[in-house]
Amino acid sequence: MPKVPPQDAPSLDQVGLENASGVGPKLQDLLRRMGLDSIEDALYHLPLRYEDRRQFLKISQLRTGQQAVFCAQVLAAGESRTGRRQIFEVIAGDESGRISLKWFHYRKKWLQKRFPVGQHVVFIGEVHRFGATREIHHPDSELISAGSDPAQLMRKDPLKFGRILPVYPLTEGLTQYRMRKIWFELIARYAPQISATLPQYLTQKYGFPPLSKALFRCHWPDSDQSLAQLEEGRDIAKRSVVYDEFFYLELGLALKRRGLAIEQGFAFKVEHLYTKPLNRLLPFKLTAAQRRVLGEIKQDMMAATPMHRLIQGDVGSGKTIVALMAALIAIENETQVAVVAPTEILAEQHYSTFKEWLPQLGLNCELLRSATPSAEKKRILNELKNGTTHLVVGTHALLQEAVQFKRLGLGIVDEQHRFGVKQRGALKQKGANPDILVMTATPIPRTLSMTFYGDLSLSVIDELPPGRKAVKTHHYRSSQRQSAYHELQKQLAQGRQAYIVYPLVEETEKSDFLAATEASVKLADIFPEANIGLLHGRMKQQEKDAVMQAFRRHDLDILVATTVIEVGVDVANATTMIVEHADRFGLAQLHQLRGRVGRGVNESFCFLISSAQYSAEAKRRLDVMVETNDGFRISEADLEIRGPGEFLGTRQSGLPDFRVASLLHDGALLEIARHDAFEYAAQTNYLNDQSAAEVKAEMIKRWGGRLDLATIG
Ligand code: ADP
Ligand code: MG
Repeated sequence: MPKVPPQDAPSLDQVGLENASGVGPKLQDLLRRMGLDSIEDALYHLPLRYEDRRQFLKISQLRTGQQAVFCAQVLAAGESRTGRRQIFEVIAGDESGRISLKWFHYRKKWLQKRFPVGQHVVFIGEVHRFGATREIHHPDSELISAGSDPAQLMRKDPLKFGRILPVYPLTEGLTQYRMRKIWFELIARYAPQISATLPQYLTQKYGFPPLSKALFRCHWPDSDQSLAQLEEGRDIAKRSVVYDEFFYLELGLALKRRGLAIEQGFAFKVEHLYTKPLNRLLPFKLTAAQRRVLGEIKQDMMAATPMHRLIQGDVGSGKTIVALMAALIAIENETQVAVVAPTEILAEQHYSTFKEWLPQLGLNCELLRSATPSAEKKRILNELKNGTTHLVVGTHALLQEAVQFKRLGLGIVDEQHRFGVKQRGALKQKGANPDILVMTATPIPRTLSMTFYGDLSLSVIDELPPGRKAVKTHHYRSSQRQSAYHELQKQLAQGRQAYIVYPLVEETEKSDFLAATEASVKLADIFPEANIGLLHGRMKQQEKDAVMQAFRRHDLDILVATTVIEVGVDVANATTMIVEHADRFGLAQLHQLRGRVGRGVNESFCFLISSAQYSAEAKRRLDVMVETNDGFRISEADLEIRGPGEFLGTRQSGLPDFRVASLLHDGALLEIARHDAFEYAAQTNYLNDQSAAEVKAEMIKRWGGRLDLATIG
């Protein structure tokens, strides 16, 4: 029986793994490399899957793919040859049938000695079927004496038989048996010290066991637990651990949201001084979704507390116009607007949109670039400080100290996954609690946005402007390039334009710039009638602008480009896009690129041409692109292919690493936990009630540092 710990035992995240029995310095080092430092880490290091060793099967009952445990007697053993391979084979049988056991790597003497004919053995391993024969490769085995009672054996060693056994992720130098042995003792001793802090009404509502019990059961399931439920994560023990993890995260976010909600911000008045005239100038009407989202933004802006809102919308859904409208409301209230973009190209793109409309309304806007000459920079900074400039666009360079505003009322951040929580904070510091509007160019699956942007309110533009047609997408191998060219020729003959995109290639190869340059020369032979232009990142801004303008005017038919066109190009007559080496692009990038076509009334095409060789993962990406135009489905698939950490690109993104929960599989539970946590926060006066003291302490322990909760006291 585990000992009862003394009351003043240190918190388990402070107790090193060297305290676990069986863990010496060498093993501790191995475990550290797996990211396991403390006893608490170990408790949350859950099995990957389980093995059912509750009973011995008869050989006739063995099923392909199953992890099987059975007793049998050795009927024959020895080496044989299949093809060029030498193998060791044991034929074993019971009264119901026979099975073959095979070793491909072995020490012959050892196996011969271990498996003499007549020996009784318990075998454990995964059953394969080859034609009519079943076999197990490299089985585990336990020798037993003839006539020994299996039931007795099962009771003898609980780490081997008689129960559902955990299968842990391992590292080199660590066997499953050793891992089980250490973990079994560790959990028996320490799990009881984990305190259950979830509010009781919630654990009762869902029938969750106390956290310590739940953890124990995740490692060492009871014999009556269902293997299927365990493996699919539906077991109540596992669910309660996941819920617990989500609950505390969401509680932190609830408090953070609350902290923001009690700050004093601008209460803007909306008299449509500029938005009405803009509406008359625009060549189109806002979509219903745009109007709805704008309404949500207006509500926030009129409130006395600062806005923290995220606009999500697919490529081309018209986020920029909505942001422009919000900017005009801030400007109408005699405040300034800062627009922060993740890259210079994006900043330029936004600037060109704002520049198109603001001067017509008698307003000033500026672009702050890293390459802006210093005299010019000085002027811009001056005019920001004295309030002449109404709106400024730039990269995160805008967050530098030298940049000061007279009265910053609204910060607009275009994120594209690249911006962190910290930078949003820095932007806020540029004014007195300005409103913050975040846009994401690539839609993020809901489960992710709930944590990644958990402290923001969400608006979704779920409708594209009218007349947009889905882009027809094909995947061609490089040998089939002619088919793509053939289609392109047809489009050119109809007076349409096209993009041909080259990726950034690896450094050891030719530069993308060279590849694109060469291609434009070759293409001139293939399409002699067409005017072909070239656009790449090494060109000066003026040259780029000139090329883009020529393409816009239709002086050029084909624009050969590197990925600089990923954003910032909007030519409705361009109906074809060819992407070379499409396998080298990520899904989000392909989706962005494809968003450059399909902007007009004509049917559009995207031809993805893969390299001679590409990975299975690249194939999955290309398949997704061919299947769907829906940005949300694409980002779900992206998340699935890459996993959340990779998907968001950076560990400093503010997204916590979960120990047990999976954003991919536990999305439904996350929503439940979020709802409960927000409700609990509201009920307990944001954890200030005495009844919530324990929960509050636990929450601060888990997430305090990462959620920047210092600001809310
Ligand atoms: P996003 O930033 O969401 O990718 P943009 O704001 O760049 O989309 O808009 C894409 C294109 O659609 C732009 O040319 C924009 O002028 C146009 N657009 C935006 N809203 C509408 C609308 N309601 N009707 C027609 N075109 C629109
Ligand atoms: Mg845009």
